[in-house]
Amino acid sequence: MWKYYHDPYIKKLETAVKEVNENQVVLEDTVFYPTGGGQPHDRGTISNQTILDVFEQGGNVVHVLDQAPVSPGDAVTCMLDWDYRYAVMRMHSALHLLFDVAGELYGISESAGSNVEAEKSRLDLVYDDVLDEGKRAALEKQFAAAVDEDRPITVWWEGEKRLVQIEGFDPMPCGGLHTKSTREIGHLSKLKRKNVGKGKERVEVFL
Ligand SMILES: [Zn+2]
Repeated sequence: MWKYYHDPYIKKLETAVKEVNENQVVLEDTVFYPTGGGQPHDRGTISNQTILDVFEQGGNVVHVLDQAPVSPGDAVTCMLDWDYRYAVMRMHSALHLLFDVAGELYGISESAGSNVEAEKSRLDLVYDDVLDEGKRAALEKQFAAAVDEDRPITVWWEGEKRLVQIEGFDPMPCGGLHTKSTREIGHLSKLKRKNVGKGKERVEVFL
């Protein structure tokens, strides 16, 4: 299992180069999360070379560097841009919690997509009604209560399926990275509604 799954709090890794194809590098192991599951790829450096992109291909994690002055077998040091990653982990966990709270308050049980970014994220909820100001205020309040309760967030595998669960809510299939507890997410600073058509409510999330 890749190190970012083994422990998403690892910030530095000593490993070796497995394959090189021009400026694309595959390592023996990695702390860099590849783009996927609505979560952006990590940032950081491999032996002081800036990472431009990280993606998954055929079971490999491919790191795209500015230039790749490395060869298979070379020892390298991976340094994760932790501030950025942690913001993304908090945001990703925030979307899960918001979805769970929306289920609790308004019976919402289906998401129509989401996008995680460090500064602002969005969550599309399948909902026939409108999440007006009053409903959003109630969401924020319930969200804050769950954060203050410091609920554990657990992750496990069932075969190929990866599940994430915030204590007290249902497990959800997810390949992304999460904080260990809800307290780390913090309260919402803003929750905005966007009109995206009937039957769907889009909320923009700021921490
Ligand atoms: Zn997720």
